[in-house]
Amino acid sequence: MRNILALSLTNRCPLRCSFCCVPPGPGDMDLAIAQGLIADCIRHDLVQEVGFTGGEPMLRYNDIVQLGASLDAAGISWGMTTGMGWLGSRSTMHTKADGLLGAGIRSISVSVDGTHGREIKPEKHPLIREFVERMVNGGINVTISVTKENDAEACPIELTDLLDRRNFRMEYHYVAPVGHADGRACHAQVRFDMRDSQCPLKKGFTFSVWPSGDVYPCCSTYTVNKAKALRIGNVRRTPFVDIVAAALNDPYLVTIREVGFAGLILLTPDSPVWTEAFMNGPVQDSCHLCAKVLANPGFQDIRTALAQLPEASATAR
Ligand code: SF4
Ligand code: SF4
Repeated sequence: MRNILALSLTNRCPLRCSFCCVPPGPGDMDLAIAQGLIADCIRHDLVQEVGFTGGEPMLRYNDIVQLGASLDAAGISWGMTTGMGWLGSRSTMHTKADGLLGAGIRSISVSVDGTHGREIKPEKHPLIREFVERMVNGGINVTISVTKENDAEACPIELTDLLDRRNFRMEYHYVAPVGHADGRACHAQVRFDMRDSQCPLKKGFTFSVWPSGDVYPCCSTYTVNKAKALRIGNVRRTPFVDIVAAALNDPYLVTIREVGFAGLILLTPDSPVWTEAFMNGPVQDSCHLCAKVLANPGFQDIRTALAQLPEASATAR
């Protein structure tokens, strides 16, 4: 199992994506909390990778370079996501690229969304391409994550010629019905299939820590900051090492990680949650189903039933 810490250093972002799930209003994580979390991860060997996220993490550029260098020195791989809303002049871009490479960054995910065009004008696209090429040439694993509303939409920045580089890839996602896009119809052509109902946590946790200190077991945009039912603790009140232990023993998380939603439905067949989840609009994927389950008042009964199952408690131990 490969566990990841996704550290949101700030809620701030210069962009305004339609599906953004980041809480409104300013909010930065205290540097001391971020340093303490990373120290805990190193001391207790809690995660194999750290990703800086946000908001726009590059608004905390100096802190990223400092924290990233300490991770690199400890042998923990680190990376970040960015919407590129931080771009200034060409020389600023190269200075910051130098800093990231010098601090040992190993991966970067650059998000591209049609609505970025409101703040990032097309004349900035060559500079974004130059940054991406800089990272690719530096041996960093680069992912371009394109979010689109329909099949006709393409990446507005020409990057496809980089696809023959082994450390470069492009991913396409449909707008998820979250944030300002909450309640919109699903755009995906391929809908949820119960035969593929695994929770992505099967591969490992992505402990997402927000500036408020709240911790979630994953980074699902459907649920974080919305369904507090998935919150597993707050690092301002509880040591991170204890939060990780609680997540590993949580009956709901244990069950969906082990047997997926198909197994969970078999374990709780009489719950009205399932009928309501599938009757109330289409389901896009496992995490969308999870969000519907968590938002249903019957969820607490499912959690109680799972806690009483001998199988679940045995697995948890
Ligand atoms: S780039 Fe990310 S943080 Fe910024 S508005 Fe878009 S989704 Fe939200
Ligand atoms: S299925 Fe639920 S717990 Fe699993 S990754 Fe998705 S939102 Fe998180």
